[in-house]
Amino acid sequence: MDRLIYLDNAATTKCAPEALEAMLPYFTEYYGNPSSIYSLGAESKKAVSGARKIIAGSIHADPAEIYFTAGGSESDNWAIAATAEAYGDRGKHIITSKIEHHAVLHTCEYLQKRGFQITYIDVDENGIIKLEELEKAIRPDTILISIMFANNEIGTLQPIAQIGKLAKEHGILFHTDGVQAYGHVPIDVEELHIDLLSASGHKLYGPKGIGFLYIRKGVKIRSFIHGGAQERKRRAGTENVPGIVGFGAAVKKAFAGLEERAETERQLRDYLIAEIEAKIPHCRLNGDRKRRLPGNVNFSFRFIEGESLLIMLDMKKICASSGSACTSGSLDPSHVLLAIGLPHEIAHGSLRLTLSYENTKEELDYVVEAVSEIVEKLRKMSPLYEDFAKKGTEQE
Ligand SMILES: *Cc1c(COP(=O)(O)O)cnc(C)c1O
Repeated sequence: MDRLIYLDNAATTKCAPEALEAMLPYFTEYYGNPSSIYSLGAESKKAVSGARKIIAGSIHADPAEIYFTAGGSESDNWAIAATAEAYGDRGKHIITSKIEHHAVLHTCEYLQKRGFQITYIDVDENGIIKLEELEKAIRPDTILISIMFANNEIGTLQPIAQIGKLAKEHGILFHTDGVQAYGHVPIDVEELHIDLLSASGHKLYGPKGIGFLYIRKGVKIRSFIHGGAQERKRRAGTENVPGIVGFGAAVKKAFAGLEERAETERQLRDYLIAEIEAKIPHCRLNGDRKRRLPGNVNFSFRFIEGESLLIMLDMKKICASSGSACTSGSLDPSHVLLAIGLPHEIAHGSLRLTLSYENTKEELDYVVEAVSEIVEKLRKMSPLYEDFAKKGTEQE
């Protein structure tokens, strides 16, 4: 195949043409500052509030509860660190999970160094958090529970409704990193009792560098950036108007066809899983088979290195990701795969393929063939596999 096959939509997505088109006039035509008095500024202001309204509606929030940020990482940092500071006099205990994104985990570590106590809840072998353990971890001084909506590596969807209910019953704030879930599965902050929700534009076919934090009315939080009066004085700085407009357009598109797109992705996902399981021996599907994001596929292949697999896939113009969150620079296996109980050597041989509704079965057939061929080649070079294969024949 000569064209690129992009199967890394959990890392980022291609900007939707609708989003790009909506943004363009805000660079050169309507470039006014939303805070300015004249009509050019008012155009920008109108566009920002239009996007805010669309986004608020998508999660059943009020527009005044949506705060634009520079993306998911910023929203996570803000949500956790700033509520910890605002509620620190009530208690210094925070509950999170072992499989959170680093934007959450590293913020928790930062707080730990500043006198907060963090409990990291375990997950089961499919990556679903243990609710009993969560309930037991709640203390009188617990101020915040932060559990992600869906995991970025293995796609597992968490029991958000139950967590929200538990948090509410105990009067504890509930933050969820919704970056992977937003725009892919329905989210209702009222029904789910979510107090804070992080989302990012570039994970749902919007532009990069724009996201939002939903902050429920009445939640105390320190301002993230001090300065002007933008974002109700909580996040100062001239708005990223084109980014916000593009984000709004992407959200509009994502929610208009959400169920249909999700169904297309689920079918492609299940086809890809079935094909890999049928054609490649000694593989393991990571994450829950059913309770997972529509576009997520994650496998471990024994006796291979995920990094080598990725490089060889790249030579076939296939974009994928390995099990390690920081593919570049770090050789540590993913904390998520270790948390679901994979031994180091198996976690190292992992491959994440994340689909878009635009992928085709034809592309997936090509990818399965490529992965199968490469895995076989890599195994032939592995002394471990040689030993394993020898033992297998001896037993026969
Ligand atoms: C991508 C991602 C983030 C970070 O979002 P950015 O917009 O890239 O900062 C945070 N959490 C999860 C679960 C993600 O997948």
